[in-house]
Amino acid sequence: MSEFKHGLPETLAHDWRQLQALIADTAERDRVPCRAADSVPLSFWTSDDHHEQRLAAEACKPCPILTQCKAYGLAHRKEAGVYGGLAQIERGGGR
Ligand code: SF4
Repeated sequence: MSEFKHGLPETLAHDWRQLQALIADTAERDRVPCRAADSVPLSFWTSDDHHEQRLAAEACKPCPILTQCKAYGLAHRKEAGVYGGLAQIERGGGR
């Protein structure tokens, strides 16, 4: 049985390893856009280009763990790239 059968509580999404484990676990049974990379290239999630990050952020919208990923991204504003449908600058992290 999956460790994340009921998802990761929003308040616990503050550890990068926990988030990565949740993404991997979810991707085994669901489409996680940044893992599938079938709508925009995977590199757009960590691109330095705001326009590319915006396209990735838009692609995040149907992600089943958007809420947890967004909580992580807002708790780690300086981390590069897109988290939870928000580009880095939208999370207050510059760029
Ligand atoms: S919300 Fe976006 S960045 Fe986070 S796991 Fe889902 S697709 Fe990836």
